[in-house]
Amino acid sequence: MSKKNNSFHPETDAVRIQTAQTPEMEHSTPLFLTSSFCYHDAEEMRAVFAGEKSANIYSRFINPSVTEFQDKMAALEGTEAAHATASGMSAVFASFMALLKAGDHILSGRAVFGSTHGMLTRFLPRWGISHTYFDANQVDKLESFIRPDTKMIFLETPSNPGLDLIDLETVGKIAQKHHLIFNVDNCFATPALQRPVEFGADLITHSATKWIDGQGRVMGGVVCGKKELIREVYLFCRNSGPSLSPFNAWVLSKSLETLFIRMERHSQNALHIAEVLQNNPHLNWVKYPFLQSHPQYAIAKKQMSAGGGIVCFELKGGLKSGKKFLDALQMLSLTANLGDTRSIASHPASTTHAKLTEEERQQVGITPGLIRISVGLENVEDILQDIEQALEKSK
Ligand SMILES: *Cc1c(COP(=O)(O)O)cnc(C)c1O
Repeated sequence: MSKKNNSFHPETDAVRIQTAQTPEMEHSTPLFLTSSFCYHDAEEMRAVFAGEKSANIYSRFINPSVTEFQDKMAALEGTEAAHATASGMSAVFASFMALLKAGDHILSGRAVFGSTHGMLTRFLPRWGISHTYFDANQVDKLESFIRPDTKMIFLETPSNPGLDLIDLETVGKIAQKHHLIFNVDNCFATPALQRPVEFGADLITHSATKWIDGQGRVMGGVVCGKKELIREVYLFCRNSGPSLSPFNAWVLSKSLETLFIRMERHSQNALHIAEVLQNNPHLNWVKYPFLQSHPQYAIAKKQMSAGGGIVCFELKGGLKSGKKFLDALQMLSLTANLGDTRSIASHPASTTHAKLTEEERQQVGITPGLIRISVGLENVEDILQDIEQALEKSK
């Protein structure tokens, strides 16, 4: 059942790669719910520990359910290797800690996930790792921000929640020219819609909690990249402990089987909703990567195969209307997650990005009236109808 032919398309790999299998020859992938693995005798155990024989040891290091998820993610991202972690944040954290040291500098996109911002500003400086933010529209000037101590460029595209896009090709070339590690958080697009490795990314991080699970069940993360970089990420995680649980890995490996069809439908639904809402009188603007009115529409078309499942808009009535809108929703869920089969509405200014100052929120485009919709897989007319009736009541 493992990959016999390496010329399959990614959609096929997502369904067909299966490296976890027992002598029972189960068709659906088995779950290896065990914390450690046995040896036949003392000599075999010695050889495994000495690295002379490859075998499972302990689930903080390696577990077949986790390995399968890693193998699938590496195949989908087009990288040599992948290492899975307990959450998206532990993936981002490990990608920094495994490859940087005191005195190093990260050049980071400004519009990053709230907890990534927290890590960059609150914790990394304590260990001597500094950062400079650049805006999505400063990519032309990016080279002038590079310092002698810069070691990594990190960015999210599309960004959460503002849906800013960054030209991966341009940044990839700059990173390569200056020998910097190019690290992309590909959570919003997933490898189904965007493969940063094609534009020179060295590391790709994910919150698997979002679209990869896609059903709001488990936490998980993964870092994909070249073997020698992932080896460092693996060693950091093996020694510090943020392992993905075998159960969550099993859920995520099964989830990947439907990733491509889910992302296709999420994107179709989201584009339709964004197009219709463009004419809604209660909104200042609607933002979606595949809307022609998106300021970086050309970049979206170049590096993404569809726009993804997130739509943002700004209510004319600001904060007050935002609360009224959320209260008037009848079907959409009010919850912190995104990337679910169920459509979700959220208000970043009062939740995920509440820890930022007003000025910092403004810099990443989070206005008081900004609403983020994670468009699910319900019938698109039902989703739209709920949003429209709630907008009527948001005045
Ligand atoms: C959610 C998210 C994360 C963090 O992932 P967790 O699984 O919640 O730890 C990182 N980056 C982006 C873009 C996210 O949306």
